[in-house]
Amino acid sequence: MERILVSSCLLGRPVRYDGRGKPLHGGLFERWRNEGRLVPFCPEVSGGLPVPRPPAEIVLRRTSAPGAPSPPPEPSTGTVKSAGAAVLDGAAQVLTDTGADVTEHFIRGARLALEGAERSGARIALLKEGSPSCGSGRIYDGTFTGTPIAGAGVTTVLLERAGIRVFSEDRLPELEALLKDLEK
Ligand code: SF4
Repeated sequence: MERILVSSCLLGRPVRYDGRGKPLHGGLFERWRNEGRLVPFCPEVSGGLPVPRPPAEIVLRRTSAPGAPSPPPEPSTGTVKSAGAAVLDGAAQVLTDTGADVTEHFIRGARLALEGAERSGARIALLKEGSPSCGSGRIYDGTFTGTPIAGAGVTTVLLERAGIRVFSEDRLPELEALLKDLEK
């Protein structure tokens, strides 16, 4: 049976930055849960961040002269298709809304998510849309103004680089089609 790595918050676990879950309900999701396919994981908590925690967004890295004070966060741009890839490649940081650098936590959480997927044999992931870790179609633009841009989060990109197919809660029928295909 194909297993599905799933964002813990979609199962209602209170792991989000605001201390809440984001439970997903509905036919397909309930069926996968009842079939025992779901492998819950929260990259940010596993990466060492607390609950609750300050909101964080991906921000393009800006270099500064040695000894100079840290620059304020610079907004990412909508041209960055995959900000999560930029984080993994050292070209962007994950910052909180007060400018604290939590990049290492996000990268560690992504690596642990990949390990968890590999350990459970999951070739598919269902991750929460919009998150700087779990987003797969959109994230936020680094300005903390609630502005979405096209892009994927850090965990999503690392999983996809390893060949794991990532879907959001907006694409459940596509995930179901892939499951059927893999289990023919
Ligand atoms: Fe954790 Fe991902 Fe849910 Fe954020 S979206 S709370 S990182 S599982």
